[in-house]
Amino acid sequence: AIDVQDLHKYFGDNEVLKGIDFHVDQGQVVCVVGPSGSGKSTLLRCVNRLEEPTSGRIVVEGVEITDPDVDVDKVRSRIGMVFQQFNLFPHLTVLRNLTIAQQRVRRRSKDEAVEVARTNLAKVGLADREDAYPAHLSGGQQQRVAIARALSMSPDMMLFDEPTSALDPELVGDVLDVMRDLASEGMTMMVVTHEMGFAREVGHKLVFMDGGVIVEEGDPRKVLADPQHERTQAFLSKVL
Ligand code: ATP
Ligand code: MG
Repeated sequence: AIDVQDLHKYFGDNEVLKGIDFHVDQGQVVCVVGPSGSGKSTLLRCVNRLEEPTSGRIVVEGVEITDPDVDVDKVRSRIGMVFQQFNLFPHLTVLRNLTIAQQRVRRRSKDEAVEVARTNLAKVGLADREDAYPAHLSGGQQQRVAIARALSMSPDMMLFDEPTSALDPELVGDVLDVMRDLASEGMTMMVVTHEMGFAREVGHKLVFMDGGVIVEEGDPRKVLADPQHERTQAFLSKVL
């Protein structure tokens, strides 16, 4: 579960998050939507402490990650993150991309790391590509490797920041299918996305952000069919 209370984030004197409150239960999928610059990525990056919140509280699985004394590396190893750009290590094979942090951060033996990696590669449908280098894979395959890599750290929850936005349209479906499987296995997920079909079918909650605040949130089917706020209506009329 994740609890965000009165989260504020400034860059210099630019207030980018202006008091964000929300709660995600264990096993829930929250989709975050909103216009460019509304603070979606900053919110996600605060949740795994890639950005330091200016004030407020974030509690993930009972650990207050906004505590100044928290072990940031430990927090990050418990929260998987997948970015728009896949960020694989280009000089390492797929298998090595999946084992390196397991060995160095999780302190797993090589054999154990390989076993976990293979399980997760199979899960994303790439069991036969473990010896490939990232450049020899399609964008959709690279993103599935990135998801498998994050899963190999055995995270408590997964954050996705526009995971399909850099992909050719015909490659989007395979990545969304992997995310759908993860959701049905009960993974807690926060997903910034413009894929409203995914939000409607997989999301338990939709959060609409604009200007650093949550303007509206609720059941995705309800919010998408009948947005209450004028800003939500204006945004959805552009993306639906
Ligand atoms: P997009 O849909 O384009 O990805 P977003 O909703 O993810 O947008 P953010 O990337 O969170 O928006 O950015 C919110 C605001 O914070 C923007 O005004 C951006 O310029 C600013 N910002 C983000 N990161 C930094 C940074 N490292 N330094 C200064 N300003 C930043
Ligand atoms: Mg963003």
